[in-house]
Amino acid sequence: MIQTRRGVCAYCGVGCEIIARVENETILSIEGDPNGAVSRGKLCVKGRYGFDFASSPSRVIGARIKRSFVAKNSAKMPQNLRSKLFLLTPLDEGFFSLPIDIAIEIAAWKSGEILQVSGGGAFGFVGGARTSCENAYYFQKFAREFIKSPNIDNCARVCHAPSLAGLRRVLGEGAASVPFDDIFKAELIVVIGSNTTEAHPIVGLRILEAVRGGGVNGEKAKLAVIDTRRVTIGKNADYEIIAPFESNLAILNAIAKYIVENDLCDLAFLADRTSGFEDYKAKILCEKSVDFSAIEGGGAIADQIAKLAQEIAAKKTIFVWGLGVTEHIDGSDSVSAIANIALLTGNIGREGAGVMPLRGQNNVQGACDMGCLPYFETGYKTPTAIGLKTPEMIDAIFEGKIRAIFNVGEDIAHVHSDISRVETALAKLDFLCVCELFMSGVARMADIVIGVKSAYERGGVYINAERRAHLTKPLIKTDAIEEYEFFAALKNAMSGSHDRVTPHDIWREVCERSGDYFGDLSYENLERSSGILWKGDRLYENGFHFEDKKARFFYAPPRETTQKHEKQGIFWLSTGRILTQYNNAAQTSETPRLNSKYEEDAALISPLDAVYFDLTKRYFLQSRYGKSTPLRLKIDEGIQKGAVFCTFHHARSGINRLFGGECDPLTKTPRFKAIEVEIKAGE
Ligand code: SF4
Repeated sequence: MIQTRRGVCAYCGVGCEIIARVENETILSIEGDPNGAVSRGKLCVKGRYGFDFASSPSRVIGARIKRSFVAKNSAKMPQNLRSKLFLLTPLDEGFFSLPIDIAIEIAAWKSGEILQVSGGGAFGFVGGARTSCENAYYFQKFAREFIKSPNIDNCARVCHAPSLAGLRRVLGEGAASVPFDDIFKAELIVVIGSNTTEAHPIVGLRILEAVRGGGVNGEKAKLAVIDTRRVTIGKNADYEIIAPFESNLAILNAIAKYIVENDLCDLAFLADRTSGFEDYKAKILCEKSVDFSAIEGGGAIADQIAKLAQEIAAKKTIFVWGLGVTEHIDGSDSVSAIANIALLTGNIGREGAGVMPLRGQNNVQGACDMGCLPYFETGYKTPTAIGLKTPEMIDAIFEGKIRAIFNVGEDIAHVHSDISRVETALAKLDFLCVCELFMSGVARMADIVIGVKSAYERGGVYINAERRAHLTKPLIKTDAIEEYEFFAALKNAMSGSHDRVTPHDIWREVCERSGDYFGDLSYENLERSSGILWKGDRLYENGFHFEDKKARFFYAPPRETTQKHEKQGIFWLSTGRILTQYNNAAQTSETPRLNSKYEEDAALISPLDAVYFDLTKRYFLQSRYGKSTPLRLKIDEGIQKGAVFCTFHHARSGINRLFGGECDPLTKTPRFKAIEVEIKAGE
């Protein structure tokens, strides 16, 4: 019998509500839930067709253990454990398969050995953004309270950690201040560094609807797009700034300076609701403005900046951004610069005006909210000990300080920068344990791999980029375990206890411990809704989240601005996503209908540069840190001369090998959006 079941899309941070048709615990089709507050019955191609991965024959079923780990460790195991090794069955050249309870016993023994010798600080914990809040919460609780390790982090490190840091120091929270539907109430939408229609399509759709007349009283909202290349949504823009590489902060500060210089500030808002304006004003007015007119096409940029500044000051404005802002050496400072502009013009804390970072993974907001961060516990409380960020954990492995990593649903051997170094570090670990759906890069390096439920097989709370918590139910049933079950069993095995816990117990604890965020978000309340935004629909309507309720300006000068492209044969590389694939393609590559649309990464170049290459041949990209595998070059009209854009979905392309340790210093988020490369012929 065919049944319909409701859930939330397993991909991006938009968090669209879905309805699945299910038969014999197999998903037949998925559609947007017409009553969904986010999807409103619409889905992008990933939400609609990206479900075959759940029944892929490549799923990790049960548990696997690396042959070399067994060979190295079996003689040291206690007799009762060694006597169970006959239950291991050969799987492939690298792994045995084994029952999960034996995998847990071995993981408990090895973890106990490391804990006894080196203490909790020798453990690192990475992940949580692709699983439910209950699993993410239990993961960090296991790390902090049981293992006593402060080293917990999630994939926000490679995406929106700068949004959290940059917003929080100015406004008091590091999240979107308005719901997606406020896009319809804005008079101006400013999109910065976001290929919205590809990366967050249902938000992109809202923006296009607002621009076409779906806005306030049927008025057409205006649209400004700032990016280093022409993205699809820019075709609809009233103001389109094709930015020179590494100029985000210079442009944002130039907008702020124009507003201050030309007396366009909302003075009443500044007086009542902010602090530090006079100091900020003095600094921004002294900033040596970048002479955009000195670069090709730059005169138009200076003109656009002035016009856009006037529009922002005059109109209810929402600022939307993506990784084109955060994945730079000044990511956090650029986010603060956006918040500064919102404050200068009173564009925050009211309907149709605010800040909206577009989070990547389906529960990356939730993972941060739950405390899968080295500097925040659940509900953004400061922990007693500040732990290491993921790149610092990698350094600590080389120093011999970190000996074991537990990794949940984040392919750290693919999505981080300086991948060759990450791989070398992971190979040095005494113990690497991974919870995954598929044998991702990090899973292939792991000593123990635990096959866990996918987002369509587990229930629980997911929090999207609006701060909206959805309570989901499983679309299909499987025998796989959830991450919290693994870590609860591991804790019992290590401590000799017999504690039992359910997702409902865990969520109750979250709501109790962090009542200021989640007190109203009980399962019962969530069940009655299409999701609830923590701290209400709009933040800051009654003051900013500091003790004095006043926002705090934060000025930072641009660190580096590349105004023109001078080096012969050198291209600026930026990376990003394409609609039909998702991040490391863990799920999309196991979904033939999506994967067949984009089976390999390609490098896009300007038609002006294409004349120097034979497009029937392959070329590899070479940076000062590494090189990619040979790629196809394709012409894209939206790419600036001297620039190249590449997706990074397929690990075999080695795109992240091109990036080294350069990062936003505050958050260590890699500079994935700008590196100089050569394009070299060769297979
Ligand atoms: Fe899923 Fe994001 Fe597409 Fe919505 S926009 S259907 S959440 S991938």
